[in-house]
Amino acid sequence: MSANIPEITANATPAEILRAGIEAAGGPVSLACSFSLEDVAIINIAHEAGLSLGVFALDTGRLNEETYEVADALVERYHLHIDWFFPRHEEVERLERAEGLFSFRESLDKRHACCHIRKVEPLSRALTGLAGWVTGMRREQSVTRSDLKAVELDSLNGGILKINPLIDWSEEQLTSYTDEHRLPKNRLYSQGYRSIGCAPCTRAVQPGEDARAGRWWWENPENKECGLHRR
Ligand code: SF4
Repeated sequence: MSANIPEITANATPAEILRAGIEAAGGPVSLACSFSLEDVAIINIAHEAGLSLGVFALDTGRLNEETYEVADALVERYHLHIDWFFPRHEEVERLERAEGLFSFRESLDKRHACCHIRKVEPLSRALTGLAGWVTGMRREQSVTRSDLKAVELDSLNGGILKINPLIDWSEEQLTSYTDEHRLPKNRLYSQGYRSIGCAPCTRAVQPGEDARAGRWWWENPENKECGLHRR
């Protein structure tokens, strides 16, 4: 399946980007939801705009309890159906028996191996049959995201559309939107977390650090992606 990239004007709102992306995809589109402020905002934007957007989530087996609480709050508020995807249990068993529970801290290769089993492979199943997927990525989040496009062709995932409606939002805009709409919010944000992934690979950040400094903090900034957003 392959779609055309729609024209997106420089001042397009997230709802306009989302609508243009969904229409251009011409088939089912789902949000890859990690229950971040960004993802919750997108769910609310789609809901208010009456857009048809599925939601899937990857349960890596290493998520924080606080993340599941957000998922539960979203189900309650929007009567949301979340398609959960888990890693292949044989692969997790093989990894943990051979390498232990924290092998991802030993080397970049081992970290990528864990992310591949727990995130990348389940993502490929989650994207099967979709015409497009939506992410909460924003340009200002890190050096790895500065050249994002609002809608891109995801050639590594079958040429479907990848839609990034919050691409130009600042963290301040996102926080204001969240507060204004009283959206469910992961309690870890109030403890200094600014980007939340798996529990053992995420921590609070210090003032002045970028939003993703608390992800895989033992690695170089240019490595701070989990493979979900390869380009
Ligand atoms: Fe494994 Fe950490 Fe990647 Fe989660 S973020 S899949 S625990 S390496």
